[in-house]
Amino acid sequence: MSLIETQNMTVAMGGHIALRQVDFHINSGEIVTIVGPNGSGKSTLLKALIGAVKPQTGKVTRQPKLRIGYVPQKLHIDPTLPITVQRFLSLPIRRSKQDIDSVLDRVGANDLHDKQMFALSGGQFQRVLLARALLEKPQLLILDEPTTGLDQPGSAALYRLIEELRTDLGAAVLMVSHELHVVMSASDRVICLNGHVCCHGAPDIVASAPEYRALFGTGTHGALALYRHDHDHSHDHDDHEGCTHA
Ligand code: ADP
Ligand code: MG
Repeated sequence: MSLIETQNMTVAMGGHIALRQVDFHINSGEIVTIVGPNGSGKSTLLKALIGAVKPQTGKVTRQPKLRIGYVPQKLHIDPTLPITVQRFLSLPIRRSKQDIDSVLDRVGANDLHDKQMFALSGGQFQRVLLARALLEKPQLLILDEPTTGLDQPGSAALYRLIEELRTDLGAAVLMVSHELHVVMSASDRVICLNGHVCCHGAPDIVASAPEYRALFGTGTHGALALYRHDHDHSHDHDDHEGCTHA
């Protein structure tokens, strides 16, 4: 049985359909990567999987008592509210110092205990979020664009850490990434979203699928186009004709 699956799931956000008729599953130990332009419903899919938003139609089935560690795309820490890393990791559930030490150690951040959250660098912040997800002892780690704001070496190091964690924990990993060229070799399956599932399968199959190419171009240029999508807001997903909303 899959850890989690959706059948014919449609999700509305703010009165608009963000995702239409999605069939999704992830099995234990798998690494699945979601790609797609801005606004294509990637974060919405993750939120529906963790139960933070309710599907309008269709259903989500989770393995009973499934432990999920979730790293959100955005987490705003109010700089006027001082909070140390240790305290942050103890909210909302109080955790023992031993558990906190152990997860911070695991992500290579044991020197950050007493630092203020708002004083962390981008890479440190992502590691602390990852540490927080590990407190759940997850069977499934869900990461929404975990390398946003990191430079290339920082992002490579974070992906290496994620792969190590998957091996150590025996957890499945579901992540949203704009760097298909980087995560490709590590992913078992890739799902390309654009308001619905455009194409899915082994990474090389997706990278050469016409729907994917229509959205992202080809070869290395495809990977770069993918990267640009994240930052170039003048390119709305409506520009792309290969995979329009159904
Ligand atoms: P992605 O993560 O692929 O960039 P999202 O899942 O965040 O896309 O968003 C999908 C669509 O749902 C977008 O059109 C976005 O504007 C809309 N949306 C997302 N969150 C909300 C919200 N809280 N309220 C209203 N609309 C939302
Ligand atoms: Mg998103």
